[in-house]
Amino acid sequence: MMNSLLWRRRAGFWLALILGLVFALQGNLWAAAPTAAAAAELKKLTANIHWLGHDSFRIDGEGVVIYLDPFKLKEGPKADLILITHDHQDHASPADVAKIQKPDTVIVTTAKAAEKFKGEIKVVKPGEELTVKGVAIRTVPAYNVNKFRSPGVPFHPKEVGNVGFIITVKGVRIYHPGDSDFIPEMKGLAPDVALLPVSGTYVMTAEEAVEAAAAIKPKVAVPMHVGEGIGSLADAQRFQEKAMGPVIVLPIEK
Ligand SMILES: [Zn+2]
Repeated sequence: MMNSLLWRRRAGFWLALILGLVFALQGNLWAAAPTAAAAAELKKLTANIHWLGHDSFRIDGEGVVIYLDPFKLKEGPKADLILITHDHQDHASPADVAKIQKPDTVIVTTAKAAEKFKGEIKVVKPGEELTVKGVAIRTVPAYNVNKFRSPGVPFHPKEVGNVGFIITVKGVRIYHPGDSDFIPEMKGLAPDVALLPVSGTYVMTAEEAVEAAAAIKPKVAVPMHVGEGIGSLADAQRFQEKAMGPVIVLPIEK
């Protein structure tokens, strides 16, 4: 009598444990493996985005070729629109702009970076909205909160007025934060695609980018600011492993 009761209790315990494990495992599998259809939808969002290394991208719009922070370019189509986040040499590079600039190319950048270029230039500050060549552009602040050149002096001080961009290309909202840490202004931007620096030193570390992505809430995040001496693809992969949402590591097209 006693033995049979004990046996039933033990059986109940094991049954509960096994069922619990099965449910936990299923939950994990569902979280880790989006359906093939969902993965294909996410991939479509980055279909027109070409990573040229570091913070440099070419985005092919509707009859408009857009470059962001063109740097160390090889061959490539000419630009209709060039967006430059700030004046530092690895973002605002006259030699690279010269390779892609046409007489009617429009450059959108900060006042300080604008001094380095000729041609048609639209000077912007953080917090503006404009449309150039049919591309809706919004500027977002970009600055450091915990990366310092010397004690108390950030590499990218807020007062300088560097920018990030949110642009809408073929209906896809793409956020390029420039050189920035995770800042409060990023919260709830909710673009389709967030290109996020992950190298640390001058910008967010991979771990800080994970926090930023959770606050920005993009449909998909794409790591950048690696591969040109500062940061490596290992940082991009660490970001992908730790991120709470979908991440696509684009191939560098050179
Ligand atoms: Zn910089």
